[in-house]
Amino acid sequence: MISNKMKDLVDNSSIIRVMFEEGKRLSDIYGEENVFDYSLGNPSIEPPENIRVAINQILNESAPNLVHGYMNNSGYEDVRSKIAEFLNKKHNINISYSNIVMTCGAAGGLNILLKTLLNQEDEVIVFSPFFGEYRNYVNNFDGKLVVVPTDINTFEPDMQVLKDKINSKTKVIFINSPNNPTGVVYSEKVIQNLGKILCDKEDELGINIYLISDEPYREIIYDNVKVPYILKYYKNSFIVYSYSKSLSLPGERIGYIVSNTNMDYFKDIMTSLNVANRILGFVNAPSLFQRVIANCLESKVDVSIYQRNRDVLYNHLIKIGCFCIKPQGAFYLFIRTPISDDKKFCIDAKQFNLLLVPGSAFGCPGHVRLSYCLSYEKIRNSLPAFDKLFKLYEVK
Ligand code: PLP
Repeated sequence: MISNKMKDLVDNSSIIRVMFEEGKRLSDIYGEENVFDYSLGNPSIEPPENIRVAINQILNESAPNLVHGYMNNSGYEDVRSKIAEFLNKKHNINISYSNIVMTCGAAGGLNILLKTLLNQEDEVIVFSPFFGEYRNYVNNFDGKLVVVPTDINTFEPDMQVLKDKINSKTKVIFINSPNNPTGVVYSEKVIQNLGKILCDKEDELGINIYLISDEPYREIIYDNVKVPYILKYYKNSFIVYSYSKSLSLPGERIGYIVSNTNMDYFKDIMTSLNVANRILGFVNAPSLFQRVIANCLESKVDVSIYQRNRDVLYNHLIKIGCFCIKPQGAFYLFIRTPISDDKKFCIDAKQFNLLLVPGSAFGCPGHVRLSYCLSYEKIRNSLPAFDKLFKLYEVK
C-alpha cells in the first residue's frame, strides 16, 4: 500500500524511461542494430582514460578509511578547495571551499537547494521546454511550479511574461543552459537581461529571488560558443554542476553546488545545504568519486564526437524540411512536429523503429526531443527512417 502522493507519481512516471524500455522490447524483436533509440540522454562517449587511472591510483595508494569513510556532509575540504581553485582560474572569480557543496549529481544538488529554500506554496519559475524532473523536484518540497514560455523560434525566455509572473511568492528561478531539450545556450545578453529583471523585482517586491543555474551540459558545447558564468551576473545565484555528462559518469552520482559569496543569507544557506544533504539521505557525495574528480579537473570527453552526430542529423532533418534550431550545446535536438499531436507523432515514429520523446514531457507540445548520443553509424542508418516518417505527413 503506497502513499497517495507516490501513487500519482508512479502513475505519471517518466515517459523517457518508458521509451527506453520500449527500445529494449523492439530490439528483442528486430535486432538492436535496427532500432533507433533517440529517447535517453545516456552519454555514448567513453569517460576519459585518466578517470580509470585515477581510480586505480587512489585505491592502490590511499588509506582505505580515507577513501571510503564518512566525511563532512558537504564533502572533503581538500577536494572542494581544489575545485574552487580550478573555478577561480577558469572564470576569474574568487571563491573558496566554503562556497562549494559536493552532491550526488545535479539531481542531488537541485533537491538539497529546494529543500533549503522552499516554504510550502513558494513558487519556482521554469522556462518551457524544461527538464521534466523539475516538476517532481519542486513537488518533493511542496513548492509550486510556474511555467514561463520561451519564444518557440529561438527558445529564449520571454522576459515580459517572466516579469508578469514574478510575485511575492516567487522564490526560485531555474535556468538550464546548454539546454535539455533544445540544445540552446543563453548568450551573455540574455543572462544580463535576466539578472537585471530579477534585481529590479527583488527591490520592487522586497523579497529574495534565487537563481539556480542547472549546468550538467556546461562542457558539451560546439562552435566555440561561450556559456556565461552566472555568479558574475546576479548576486543571489547558484550553479548546479555535474560530471554525469561532462565526463560521462552518470552512474557515479557526482557533482557540486557553487554559491555566490555575496548572496543574501550565504552562511545560513551553506549550513542548510550541508544538513539537507544529510537528512535527505544522500549523507554525502560518493567519497571515491570526490577524490577521482579532484585528480581529473582538467579532463574532458571528446565533444567532437557529439558534434559530428549533431551535424549529420541536423543537416539531414533540415534537408527534408523539418524545423529545428541548430543546437549549440548538450546532445539533444528539439524538432517541431508536422502535426500538433506530438504523442501521436511518436507513436507513428515507432513503426519505423524510431524512438522519440514527445515535447509535452518537457512542457512544450508540438515538438519532439531526439537525444543524439548514439553511435555515428547508428545515426546515419536511421536517416531513411526519418524520411519515411516525414513522408507520412506530406500533403498529397
Ligand atoms: N538537469 C538536467 C537538465 C538534466 O538533463 C539532467 C540529466 O539528464 C539532470 C539535471 C540530472 O543530472 P545528474 O545525472 O547529474 O543528476
